[in-house]
Amino acid sequence: MHPVARLPEEWSAALAAQGERAFRALQVFRWIHAKGELDPARMSDLPPALRASLATGGLAPVLSVADVRRATDGTRKVLFRLHDGLTIESVLIPSVSGPGSAASDDADAAAAEDDDDAALPERVRVTQCISTQVGCAMGCVFCASGVAGLKRNLGPEEIVAQVLAGRAALEPGEELRNVVLMGMGEPLHNYDATARALRLLVHGQGVGLSTRRVTVSTSGLVPEIERLGRDFGGQIGLAVSLHAADDETRTRLMPINRKYPLGDLLEALRAYPLPARRRITIEYTLVAGSNDDVAGAKRLARVLRGIPVKINLIPMNPIDASTLGPPASGGVEAFQRVLLDAGYSCFVRRRRGDDVSAACGQLALLGAKPRVRVDRS
Ligand code: SAH
Ligand code: SF4
Repeated sequence: MHPVARLPEEWSAALAAQGERAFRALQVFRWIHAKGELDPARMSDLPPALRASLATGGLAPVLSVADVRRATDGTRKVLFRLHDGLTIESVLIPSVSGPGSAASDDADAAAAEDDDDAALPERVRVTQCISTQVGCAMGCVFCASGVAGLKRNLGPEEIVAQVLAGRAALEPGEELRNVVLMGMGEPLHNYDATARALRLLVHGQGVGLSTRRVTVSTSGLVPEIERLGRDFGGQIGLAVSLHAADDETRTRLMPINRKYPLGDLLEALRAYPLPARRRITIEYTLVAGSNDDVAGAKRLARVLRGIPVKINLIPMNPIDASTLGPPASGGVEAFQRVLLDAGYSCFVRRRRGDDVSAACGQLALLGAKPRVRVDRS
């Protein structure tokens, strides 16, 4: 296992085996996860022999920033290069106030409802969207990562390092508040690495994110949804990409529906051990002529009945590999109206950072070739 993926107790065991004193374990863990320092040579209060053994043990930076693009709305899309030259993407989304803003957006499944620190008005809250795989095996027809296919899983250290680098790239006055596993890849198809990354991110001596500010987005891998609920007692936020309320339409958009049909998925959502007052986020990407008719909205209202949800409608962001696209704006509003009238919380999420190809998988697939205005940082 990469040293960046070790939990404090694993550092204790590893360092004790080398004859190091017990307090060093937490010291090293804090250097990595609280301070974001992955180069042992810069861990200034460690004895030189320990720094050297950390380096020979493989502790080193796991990714580098290959490109940063800033959208006109303040969203920053970061392209990371991994040790094998592959690239993944992550998006930093500062919250913006005002009606209709898609602020920390998909992350706010729980956060918006039980916010406890309105006392920090001058801080800009940032939501970071991170990747869990290079590409994706699920093959959703509207998704750039799905069309590309799976290149490889990320290790837990690569998942966590995106957050360490994202935090280091914050601007003055910004604070990292929410992390959503909603970038490239299907987090629950890389369950072990994802679960370890979650443990690291919420550890109080590390990045210290609150569990309810971390959200896993999934296309609906039923056994792993159950496992996530069990392993974290339902504390980790859950977002589910539904995109259709009948099996035929859903299978056409998302082949994974053949394996885990809607009935099974909805049952897993009902069984998720959600804490009181929290809700599951339902993501519904609206694709013109495929899943955007009012009958579909009525069906959605029916199948979700009784499950604590809020619904995010996302007009599809066009991708190069497909002729599919978003509905005309009236269509989005009509769809939303049905759900609002049925009593659901339902928001339209225009993807932020459109001018930097901020939809799932798009930047990494473009390579680092700038197609639009680029601000390097
Ligand atoms: N694999 C996970 C998480 C990554 S995808 C999942 O599918 O949930 C994150 C979200 O982006 C999903 O809801 C997905 O449907 C959506 N998405 C992917 N491509 C899109 C596009 N071109 N336009 C709009 N939403 C898209
Ligand atoms: Fe994979 Fe999610 Fe894209 Fe589907 S939408 S292909 S599950 S990343």
